[in-house]
Amino acid sequence: MEKYDVAIIGAGSAGLSAAIYAARGGLKTVVFEKALIGGQIVLTTEIENYPGFKESLSGFELIEKMKLQALKFGAVIKEENVKGLAVEGLCKIVETDETTYRAKALIFATGAHPRKLNIPGEDKFTGRGVSYCATCDGALYRNKTVAVIGGGDSAVEEAMFLTKFASKVYIIHRRDQLRAVYAIQQRAFKNDKIEFIFDTVIQEINGENNVESLTLFNKKTDKTSKIQVNGIFIYVGIIPNNELIESRVNLDNQGFIKTDDEMHTIIPGFYAAGDIRSKSLRQVVTATNDGAIAAFNAEKWIQENLDKILI
Ligand code: NAP
Repeated sequence: MEKYDVAIIGAGSAGLSAAIYAARGGLKTVVFEKALIGGQIVLTTEIENYPGFKESLSGFELIEKMKLQALKFGAVIKEENVKGLAVEGLCKIVETDETTYRAKALIFATGAHPRKLNIPGEDKFTGRGVSYCATCDGALYRNKTVAVIGGGDSAVEEAMFLTKFASKVYIIHRRDQLRAVYAIQQRAFKNDKIEFIFDTVIQEINGENNVESLTLFNKKTDKTSKIQVNGIFIYVGIIPNNELIESRVNLDNQGFIKTDDEMHTIIPGFYAAGDIRSKSLRQVVTATNDGAIAAFNAEKWIQENLDKILI
């Protein structure tokens, strides 16, 4: 059985930052990733606010740099699905589809996934006009009309990205005020390809083989209407990937893991970092911050408990 000092679940920006700090600190470090190395950030077209890069860079480019940096310090990345976690004394046991690993400390950095609207037509047209990733699918809508649903940073930023391709982009939001930060809002208001539809929810996504129109309901006027669109991009928030651990740690009311300032959960030697954690600002910079703090404290915790951890 392979044994490590630190096992990190999730190779997004939090997990890779933790891997850089842990491996550079001399800990034998393994990172597990079941899907896409990089997590949600790989779906982000342009990162403008990560310090150190004057020119914006894509999520993919940034994550590739983090991955190479983690590997350089000796972290091992395993593309294996983790199906179970257990704690035996102070030892952490990671069960993947392939085998079982043991580790002294564990950093849980599984991130989050996009929330669905759960309306008629959403599943039927996913991949045929319904998308959760403008970076992936935006170029398919050259000179077409698309709608972006949501009023947060993701919805408004990705709507601006879509104006590079689409001739018209509706932003449809359920309230009359956006949630996105002021600077992002201001740029969107100045973009003449974007039209805002406020106080409105989507009742149904309609079409024959592909998306053709949306049925809208205005919550202030109680009126139903239809708009013709070729695509709909859904950005209505994120859901924590907490399935492996939800019953054993403290969660906030949205299911994000509560930690102390040192990223420690209520399980000794078990840390959480990045978007999975309960916090107010979800950015790459706060994810990498969490990862670094978790790794630093995991190392400290291992040193303090060395004689008690049997792995
Ligand atoms: P978010 O901030 O939670 O916003 C979700 C939006 O979707 C809100 O406007 C919400 O409306 C709306 N919404 C939620 N459920 C809905 C439903 N069932 N039907 C219709 N609308 C619904 O999510 P996000 O924009 O994905 O951002 C997630 C996190 O990443 C945030 O912390 C954000 O700041 C961060 N982020 C930062 C950047 C950046 O700094 N450049 C970029 C992207 C994301 P209400 O406003 O009415 O609640």
